[in-house]
Amino acid sequence: IGVAVASSELTAIGRPSLPAPGAEDHKYTRGMVAVLSGAMGGAALLAATAAQRTGAGYVVLAGGASAGGLHALVHRQGTEVLGDARVDAVLCGPGLGRGAAAERTLVAALACGRPLVLDADALRLASPAVLRGLAVPAIVTPHGGEFEHLFGALPGSRIDRARAAAAMAQCVVVLKGADTVIAAPDGRVAIADPAPAWLATAGTGDVLAGLVAAMRARIDDPFAAAQAAVWLHGAAAEAAGAVLVADDLLDMIRKVVSACQ
Ligand code: AMP
Ligand code: MG
Repeated sequence: IGVAVASSELTAIGRPSLPAPGAEDHKYTRGMVAVLSGAMGGAALLAATAAQRTGAGYVVLAGGASAGGLHALVHRQGTEVLGDARVDAVLCGPGLGRGAAAERTLVAALACGRPLVLDADALRLASPAVLRGLAVPAIVTPHGGEFEHLFGALPGSRIDRARAAAAMAQCVVVLKGADTVIAAPDGRVAIADPAPAWLATAGTGDVLAGLVAAMRARIDDPFAAAQAAVWLHGAAAEAAGAVLVADDLLDMIRKVVSACQ
């Protein structure tokens, strides 16, 4: 598994260990995830459903998105869910939008003091300085374009750039692509096995964001949580096969998680 590179700090990503719930567990101990959405509900709904399928016990879809027919998703208005002390991880970005309301939502997320996962539109509105100021290190999941917008045109390889960005913003950076690179602020870097190129389709990044949030809700180390999520995402894509669409990953996540017990 993984790619061997001559650097003591670079590791490959292996299958995570995700124990099944025990008799003493209840929905909140399995992880409570809040997904803060905006006007474009589809992306947030994909992320929230991915978090559910990853095993989070309680997923709240907050804001503009409709929970549609998914009655297991709890829907709350605005950002009031951030006042719930049981929230273990907050995802902000998929379907957020970039207007004034989106900015207010992001400001509320940044102020809430919980473990944060930022993706998509949130990466257009945030800055390295703001991320650096967070008491709990965030996880950001940019693709190449979002990365350059957030961190500028950094020199070097993808590994060099992800590592520099993580140090700059003091957060965990998941630089997405065929070979996703994950960097921690302390210099640790991991690289994923090449994922199926069938992932190059709309919505797969939103699914990854939900996976990351669900893993962050139950794994304290954001670097380890991000690696687990990226591994599950690649495995789900392999299981989904050719001409996958993002929704197909949702069904596969359950299978790959159950293979990690
Ligand atoms: P996004 O750009 O936010 O929609 O996210 C796309 C997702 O698909 C990320 O998880 C990428 O790592 C993955 N992805 C995109 N293009 C490829 C590719 N050519 N090969 C493998 N994975 C890819
Ligand atoms: Mg995306």
